[in-house]
Amino acid sequence: MRYTAARTPRFASPAAWSEILGQGVRYPSLEEERTADVVIVGAGFAGLSAARRLLQLDPALNVAVLDALEIAEGSAGRNSGFMIDLPHDLSSDNYAGGGDESALIALNRKAIDFALGAAQAYGIDPAFVDPAGKVNGAASPTADAHNRSYAAHLAQLGEASEHLDAQAMHALTGSRHYLSGLYTPGTLMLQPAGYIRGLAAGLARDDVKIFARSAVTDFEQEGSIWRVRTAKGQISAPRIILATNGHLESFGFAKGRLMQLFLYASMTPELDATQLRALGGEPRWGITPSDPMGTTVRRIDTAQGGHRIITRTCATLRPEMEASARDIARATSVQRAKFDARFPQLSGAAMQYEWAGHLCLSLNGVAVTGEIAPNVFAATVQNGLGTARGTLTGIAAAEMALGQSSDITAYFNAEAAPRKLPPKPFSTWGANAYLRWKEHRARAE
Ligand SMILES: Cc1cc2nc3c(=O)[nH]c(=O)nc-3n(C[C@H](O)[C@H](O)[C@H](O)COP(=O)(O)OP(=O)(O)OC[C@H]3O[C@@H](n4cnc5c(N)ncnc54)[C@H](O)[C@@H]3O)c2cc1C
Repeated sequence: MRYTAARTPRFASPAAWSEILGQGVRYPSLEEERTADVVIVGAGFAGLSAARRLLQLDPALNVAVLDALEIAEGSAGRNSGFMIDLPHDLSSDNYAGGGDESALIALNRKAIDFALGAAQAYGIDPAFVDPAGKVNGAASPTADAHNRSYAAHLAQLGEASEHLDAQAMHALTGSRHYLSGLYTPGTLMLQPAGYIRGLAAGLARDDVKIFARSAVTDFEQEGSIWRVRTAKGQISAPRIILATNGHLESFGFAKGRLMQLFLYASMTPELDATQLRALGGEPRWGITPSDPMGTTVRRIDTAQGGHRIITRTCATLRPEMEASARDIARATSVQRAKFDARFPQLSGAAMQYEWAGHLCLSLNGVAVTGEIAPNVFAATVQNGLGTARGTLTGIAAAEMALGQSSDITAYFNAEAAPRKLPPKPFSTWGANAYLRWKEHRARAE
């Protein structure tokens, strides 16, 4: 049996969260033949969590991790860094999800505890894993109503939230754009690249072999061994964990069942003293939109890579798994308008970074986690909440690879298969038109 990658990850835009931290550790690329007990493909949230879980279960294991890019240059260095504990269904109007939400909240909190535990064990800067909570911002009466229905839904689940009025939102953000906000305390605010770099460094100290710039081109079974190949090297191992998120499909798995979604964001340069005075507000906060198709805005401070504002909005389906320069240009101009509407006192401020990142959804919101070929375990398809879900799928795949079970493996074992998508290209056109419409409907948010 042989699985060949039809494509490997490529990004034409910067991973800003990584760039603002400066040069990281330059891990070697794989240019030799080696052996391992487990090879992990992908060094994002899923892959590195899998590596840590393997070592927790068996510290003597010989684990190798391969990534096509530098560490934290994939979506790990491109996301907004909200590791959210609560339901966050992007396809609903107010994030309320279906299914057993209490079980999912409990699991998301395990992912958060896992990240905090890793941060402590590996000496990761506490500013990169800030348990600050987040606010759902509302800029219109409709959005305020969404927030109130979400708050009622949370109350039914026994979850705390706090309503913030326009004045409190202004005091927090320096922006008069928001009519109200809903604060929920459980979100871990990551410097995502800082966290992922720290995780990789800790694992490397624990003797996990990490290889960057090492795209896996194919893996082939010979007897009980899988040969995992890159352009210049090969690792032989009895078990593989595929933690490649949407690139699971590149190896031929779950074909026609995965939505390859690109999200877009931009980041200011470090704000100077005059801009900071004009801005006001607190030095760190994160606002998700009360309508899931609205705009996420985050402010970070020196300990997280400089006083900056990050704006994320726009989404496109790209089955070819690359965002075009045109996609980024359109998103950038939308983000500009959103930024100016929120911060007229900074209007005209330049953006230092504009980028696209890749995530992967299934129609029915399920992950693909489990044994997908003999001794090949997937930790993929994270849907909207990939920092938490990615951590969980990585833990689950590690446990499954070692024949262990837990409430996390039970959760993923019980999930259905991803539903089949309608045929292309109409489904892609239709979905992109639908995304644009939802974006338009959420334009104030
Ligand atoms: C702009 C943006 C904002 C987001 N905001 C949030 C947020 O606030 N909160 C949240 O929870 N989620 C957010 N997400 C989603 C989140 O980033 C992803 O769901 C998460 O990164 C998934 O983790 P992962 O480890 O499964 O996949 P990834 O982070 O994509 O990691 C997979 C890795 O596999 C590697 N890989 C793939 N194919 C190969 C191959 N053939 N050989 C070697 N390596 C390979 C890739 O290079 C990559 O590093 C956001 C995403 C974007 C783009």
